[in-house]
Amino acid sequence: MARGFSPQEEALYYRTAEAVLEKLAEAHEAPAILAVVREAFERFEQAYQSAPAAARAAVACRAGCGTCCHNDVAVQAHEVFIAAEFIQRTFSPEDLDAVIARAATHRAAYLAGRSDPAWKSPRTPCVLLREGSCSIYEGRPEICRAYHSNSLDGCIANLAAGYEKVDVNIRALRGRMFAVMLAIDQAVESAGFDDHAYDFGTALHEALTNSLCVVRWSRREPAFPESFRERED
Ligand code: SF4
Repeated sequence: MARGFSPQEEALYYRTAEAVLEKLAEAHEAPAILAVVREAFERFEQAYQSAPAAARAAVACRAGCGTCCHNDVAVQAHEVFIAAEFIQRTFSPEDLDAVIARAATHRAAYLAGRSDPAWKSPRTPCVLLREGSCSIYEGRPEICRAYHSNSLDGCIANLAAGYEKVDVNIRALRGRMFAVMLAIDQAVESAGFDDHAYDFGTALHEALTNSLCVVRWSRREPAFPESFRERED
């Protein structure tokens, strides 16, 4: 397979994509569709737990780090709605207002910068990073679930360089986590849902302030037309 998966990872990919697509085909309203996605996200933890013990022991990620949360986060619409639903369900009104305000600031900077040909990602913290930890851990996007590092020093060096200068991947873990991630995305795309890449903070602001976004998404229309990622670093 082009993605470089092992035969086991490839089998995991196809198994996951097929199972998620089957469930998506049975869900019609937004809450039911999101419930399928939420359940599909549990497959990340299952994949992690099934990884060889040596691979899990190599993970250097710790609560309170947040170094990798200073990178751009590219997501698809279903991930934004899972995060938004978690925020609306668990945050206090004050914390909800605060995250909307941070997302609005992020959105303004992103949209202004995106039209500048010289713009580079400022490597600012994710709007959901609080005191070094993810404030929506259970509702975090796919890449945040799939990514693991074997070296804090390597992550710090990569953040300073602005690109992956040091290889911090744990091969046996990354393969299975990315198989799950790509399979869920493939199932969502095959079911006809929005598969555009969005900037997370920008789209999250739209999701938290415009209830029509989820309606558009459930009708299989682009959810956040103002938040497309039109360029990559
Ligand atoms: S959603 Fe959470 S884990 Fe992902 S980048 Fe933001 S703070 Fe980090």
